[in-house]
Amino acid sequence: KASGRGTYRCFDQAMHAQLQAHQQLIVALREALEKGELELHYQPLVNLQTRQVTGCEALLRWRHSERGTIPPSEFIPIAEETGLLVPIGEWILRQACREAAGWPSHISVAVNLSPVQFKHKALVKVVADALSASSLDPARLQLEITESVLLEESEHNLEILQALRNIGVKIALDDFGTGYSSLGYLRSFPFDKIKVDQAFVRDLPQGKESLAIVRAVAGLGHSLGMMTTVEGVETEEQLTAVNVEGFDEAQGYLFARPLPAAQIQLLLKNGMTQGELALSAPQ
Ligand code: C2E
Ligand code: MG
Ligand code: MG
Ligand code: MG
Repeated sequence: KASGRGTYRCFDQAMHAQLQAHQQLIVALREALEKGELELHYQPLVNLQTRQVTGCEALLRWRHSERGTIPPSEFIPIAEETGLLVPIGEWILRQACREAAGWPSHISVAVNLSPVQFKHKALVKVVADALSASSLDPARLQLEITESVLLEESEHNLEILQALRNIGVKIALDDFGTGYSSLGYLRSFPFDKIKVDQAFVRDLPQGKESLAIVRAVAGLGHSLGMMTTVEGVETEEQLTAVNVEGFDEAQGYLFARPLPAAQIQLLLKNGMTQGELALSAPQ
């Protein structure tokens, strides 16, 4: 009986500690933006035909004063629940456009949008303002959305996507193949790009099912006139497998990890250095 009560108390305390940690994270995140603890890292996207970097994806990082770098998987859900992703999302757009404006003019920037940002009518204006404040050519901005944007409030969100398209930015469907993955989504909006989720790349070239899916998506993308990108390419073998399927672009640790803005700026100016062997001309 005594141990039973003890166990209960243990559980209770653990729950309490967890809740407290969560509350503390919310408070800290609220201040993170003002304290300058948020920053964008950038990961190159490589054209598989030319082996040249064509753009970079902006990936949010939080440098917490005590905990070090907290990954987006841990704090973006909190930012979404608390509505903090609206001001943070606005900062991301402005920062990404400002930093990309300093890159060579053929390099684009991809920014992830959360469904939460679509709940606010101002999204189109926020994007337009970020573009005009930075003087970035709208054609150099790609916005990445996931299927969840089309799942909820689809009519409303499709209108916003169309309005974004009208200001000249490109729209990419991210993490394709996970989540709801209805092919109907590909019919509902003329995406500029489909990004196949890294889950399908992980077990290439052996995984028969993944290979079949990846092949089907490459075919679909091309038939629909959409660019096709694979994420999470880590090995030469994976690169060969996706290359054979005719993907336009790849992104992954094989080429480069997400890097701080200053490093990406250097890399874009001087080209890739040692280690990025995959970037040498195709054999
Ligand atoms: P995502 O948009 O699909 O981004 C790709 C993720 O895959 C990034 O994780 C990237 O670091 C990781 N990655 C790239 N290449 C490889 C690889 O070769 N191997 C492996 N294992 N991973 C690779 P990250 O930066 O942790 O971001 C995770 C997710 O968080 C993103 O997935 C995106 O959904 C979200 N996220 C990140 N930054 C932002 C942002 O600024 N705004 C919003 N709304 N979401 C963001
Ligand atoms: Mg993305
Ligand atoms: Mg993705
Ligand atoms: Mg992903």
